[in-house]
Amino acid sequence: MFDLLKSELSRRTLLYKAGFGLITLGIVPAIFKPSRSLAQAAKEPPMPPEKKLGWAVVGLGKFATQQIIPSFAECKRSKLVALVSGDRPKAEQYARQYGVNPKNIYNYQNYDTIRNNPEVDVIYIILPNALHAEYTIRGAQAAKHIMCEKPMAITVAECQAMIDAAKKAGRKLMIAYRAQYEPFNLAAIQLAQSGKLGKLKSIVSDHGRNLDPKDPADRWRANKKLAGGGSLYDIGIYSLQATRYITGEEPTEISAMMYSTPNDPRFREVEENVNFTLRFPSGVLANCTSSYGYSDTKRIQVFGSDATLELDPATDYYKHRLTVKSKNGNEERNIQEQNQFALEMDHLSESIMNNKQPKTPGEEGLQDVKLMQLIYEAARTGRTIKV
Ligand code: NAD
Repeated sequence: MFDLLKSELSRRTLLYKAGFGLITLGIVPAIFKPSRSLAQAAKEPPMPPEKKLGWAVVGLGKFATQQIIPSFAECKRSKLVALVSGDRPKAEQYARQYGVNPKNIYNYQNYDTIRNNPEVDVIYIILPNALHAEYTIRGAQAAKHIMCEKPMAITVAECQAMIDAAKKAGRKLMIAYRAQYEPFNLAAIQLAQSGKLGKLKSIVSDHGRNLDPKDPADRWRANKKLAGGGSLYDIGIYSLQATRYITGEEPTEISAMMYSTPNDPRFREVEENVNFTLRFPSGVLANCTSSYGYSDTKRIQVFGSDATLELDPATDYYKHRLTVKSKNGNEERNIQEQNQFALEMDHLSESIMNNKQPKTPGEEGLQDVKLMQLIYEAARTGRTIKV
């Protein structure tokens, strides 16, 4: 399942010989046997432009303009052909910069007419969380495939309506869980699930940052109606996702606590901190933190009976580090960084071209929203909740 990039995982190892304080540079045998077809896929040249699928980006905010739109240049199967924005001059500026035909600029009112545009195959929703459901459903009704940003939506009912709309339209729906397409995270999954760490015992995952009221992209995040939740919905979701993709299991029990600094105006409507514990069927226990009140942290640690794995940063945009710690010392993996945004977009394009279910479909997003609601309930009631 997570083998998309195995072939790309080259390893040069820095070995710290424990006990002797001796540092040795060496090459160790690769755990990841490159599969020929995957190696070929990695070397695959980009498709000619006329064969690539056409994408429309909905919402020209910080993430769309700084990460997603520039990443089309690295896509092999996906190209940017349309923009949807409430700000026409801004859309025209990006259209000029990225070669989008101005006739393919839409606003939120005429968005539905995108149905009549055969150049658009896929719509990518990058709006505040509360708008994901409406624009996904309207996009599916316009007979387009959908990529939707995380969290999928505010409520379980909205997520289900999005899944139903895509099914009814016969179109794919994928949630943009970029970490599941990112090589360091894929390597961590492979290590954890192949038994290389021994029996998995525990996962600790921390995601935090300071919510910045001066940043326009953070203003809606402090508004419960638009964001749906606080740090948990925005970044704690990465801690939660990690426990699920590392174990390949679904949690059976949840306990949690929440805290927001009193009188901090940022947390009038949404929570600052959520710490939660999950129990998995194999016996793995996971401790996760989620915060809008501490400095940038994106760390995942996986403790096995034989070795510990640490990803830090784990879920950055362009910087990752994977270390395996065992009785033989600390071993830092040298894995080739790749543009995870291009990889995830091409994954959806490829799924559409081959009529396959994407790896992170709507059901994956729904499961996280369901679990996050249970985390809030556990924190509110002080009870351990059975899933
Ligand atoms: P942003 O505020 O920079 O962008 C949101 C865009 O939506 C803006 O252009 C804004 O004008 C537009 N918009 C339309 N209707 C609006 C309304 N009623 N209120 C407010 N804005 C409205 O935010 P962002 O950081 O780009 O986040 C957008 C989405 O992308 C969120 O769902 C977020 O969770 C997700 N995101 C994902 C990642 C990731 O790594 N996958 C990173 C950042 C953001």
